[in-house]
Amino acid sequence: MRHVTTHNGTLHFAGKIRIRTHTCHVAVVGSGAAGMAAALRLAERGVPDVMLLTEDLLAGTSRNTGSDKQTYYKLTLSGQEPDSVGRMAQTLFAGGSMDGDLARIEAALSAECFYWLAEKGVPFPRNAYGEAVGYKTDHDPLSRASSAGPLTSRLMVEHLQDALDATPVALFDRQQAVKLLTDGRTGAVRGVLCLSLDDPQIAFNLIMCPAVVWAVGGPALVYADVVYPGSQLGGTAPALEAGAAAVNLTEWQYGLASVAPRWNVSGSYQQVLPSYVSTDPDGGDPRHFLAEGILDRKERLGAIFRKGYQWPFDVRKLPGSSLVDLLVYRETALRGRRVFLDFRQNPDGLALDRAGLDAETADYLDRTHAWAPLPWQRLCKMNEPAYAFYLEHGVDLSRDRLEIRLSAQHHNGGLAVDAHWETTLPGLFAVGEVSGTHGVYRPGGSALNSGQIGALRAADAIARRLPGHGDAALDEASLLAQAADWLRDIPETEPAELESELLKGWNLAGERMSRLAGPLRDTTRLQEMLGGVCREIASSRRFLAIQALPGRALACRFRDMLLTQRFLLGAMCDYLDRGGVSRGSALYLEPGGRLPGNNVPDVFRARTGPDTLNDRVQRIRLETPGDLLSPLQIDWRPVHPLPQPDEAFEVVWQAWRKDMAQRGRGKHET
Ligand SMILES: Cc1cc2nc3c(=O)[nH]c(=O)nc-3n(C[C@H](O)[C@H](O)[C@H](O)COP(=O)(O)OP(=O)(O)OC[C@H]3O[C@@H](n4cnc5c(N)ncnc54)[C@H](O)[C@@H]3O)c2cc1C
Repeated sequence: MRHVTTHNGTLHFAGKIRIRTHTCHVAVVGSGAAGMAAALRLAERGVPDVMLLTEDLLAGTSRNTGSDKQTYYKLTLSGQEPDSVGRMAQTLFAGGSMDGDLARIEAALSAECFYWLAEKGVPFPRNAYGEAVGYKTDHDPLSRASSAGPLTSRLMVEHLQDALDATPVALFDRQQAVKLLTDGRTGAVRGVLCLSLDDPQIAFNLIMCPAVVWAVGGPALVYADVVYPGSQLGGTAPALEAGAAAVNLTEWQYGLASVAPRWNVSGSYQQVLPSYVSTDPDGGDPRHFLAEGILDRKERLGAIFRKGYQWPFDVRKLPGSSLVDLLVYRETALRGRRVFLDFRQNPDGLALDRAGLDAETADYLDRTHAWAPLPWQRLCKMNEPAYAFYLEHGVDLSRDRLEIRLSAQHHNGGLAVDAHWETTLPGLFAVGEVSGTHGVYRPGGSALNSGQIGALRAADAIARRLPGHGDAALDEASLLAQAADWLRDIPETEPAELESELLKGWNLAGERMSRLAGPLRDTTRLQEMLGGVCREIASSRRFLAIQALPGRALACRFRDMLLTQRFLLGAMCDYLDRGGVSRGSALYLEPGGRLPGNNVPDVFRARTGPDTLNDRVQRIRLETPGDLLSPLQIDWRPVHPLPQPDEAFEVVWQAWRKDMAQRGRGKHET
């Protein structure tokens, strides 16, 4: 990859602020697994002048996260169990509020993307016959999951980057995309305005291009309690501000995660049966608090064990393993205590014996040869790399307790895309977690699959339009005027204490979302919060007066955070108005509501009942693009049905040849 620097651009001024303009054919924004794949797919299709721009090549979720066995979901490619594109599509579609065409495409292309990554060097294991042996993950009826180990997504970006290094794709690093620019006449996206993060003075780069692939990852910035890596904040808001529609924004995945380092405590970390202990804020008054909520010890141990493979908080697992999440939440959020996993002692501080375990738990410990007196010893036997991971991060589970919280891990909703991953704004494609391609439930590992499929489909669509792209007028004067308008009125002097006020506002806004609109959503407070967020948006521009980096970068991000929160809260309020109930990974708390299961503490009374909206998709957008406070337009449409194609080969072949001929490729096939 060639490196672009600000000096490659042409210098302009908006008042005293410097803006350099650059042109390219396609700007891919974000260097995670999805963005890297999109850039590489474009290069492989011969699309010239592709620019990969990112706030930090080494940042983001893909490169900096994982789990005990990070999963990649795909069609079954081993063993005797029958599988098909149709069956896998059905699994994805069954998640609810999921479009059938996207489910079908994600199933159809999953094997191709999996083998493409393997060819790039991602070490997915194969057996002696070359089969990519799979295992069962959450919400998976077969054993479709594969893994390259705890750091599958990191290996993906590393190998994709190696492959990109051999292409002419240009890398523009340290660019924070703050605004999307559009053609005033057609509304098509024609450029990206970026705050330069390396410039000693405040300066912007304006990338002008006929197509943008938005691959900025999940909007981690909306919550304080997250397991996303610290370097991932996300950037859904610039697309929302430009008028792009979003879907299923209410749907997230939350689960138990360690705080330092941020890491999912799923799989083996639960299956070795650690002790759950809470303390007061100073570490005193230790309590085995799970015993208060799950009275029977065998049941309690079974719930901890099942948390391993039922990791995300799931309202359907109440009563059941998700009660563990609720009890952790009660300790931390409602009682102000801290919660730890303690691998130095067995649950309740009591010895563990076979007779005290249910059959599933005992059998698993047998099959994995993991019997040992203490949880950390069992972990070393069952999954030594899982123990080593914490050791490498300064936590020795044989000596140290591990602090955990119920944290946001994945946004299932996001920007609305069509079957080519193009958003509702022409020329803007959204791939990876920023796109809303999942429904209420999704099989574990389908996020990484979806990002790869989106990258492939978007690259195909862009390459197909290639001849027409030259005609897409890039009106530099109009784009510069939009950029200047966005920068207008930024005060040139910075009031004292502005940066510390910003930090305070940032922390409060994130904590408020985690407390009231995360896995536990307080139906009595959401509307009031929405009003508060709108008031904060109205006064948030003043933070742009911060004159230096990184304060200015955070000020731009604060607006993104608030706008994204506004959309999420607006979506939640509307969902409730339509009669929405607790579902997926979110419990809607309501005084006088029902208890979602036996033994569930009274504070968790919630709106429950049949989900009558899971055959519909909630769509939401700004009524007036560019006006962050204009009303939110929300509607519900039926999900696209699951296609059941049954065409004759000859029919498909004919259409395929025609398409190839139009693309000017594959002449030998005609
Ligand atoms: C702990 C954890 C475990 C997970 N386990 C699994 C799993 O087992 N299987 C699975 O399928 N999924 C899993 N996921 C989800 C999956 O890892 C992510 O959905 C996926 O990696 C996202 O990839 P992405 O390319 O969309 O975004 P990211 O990898 O987050 O990349 C986003 C990129 O955009 C850049 N960026 C962001 N905002 C801007 C901006 N404004 N301007 C410029 N650049 C910007 C970032 O710096 C980064 O380079 C897990 C997630 C977590 C947190």
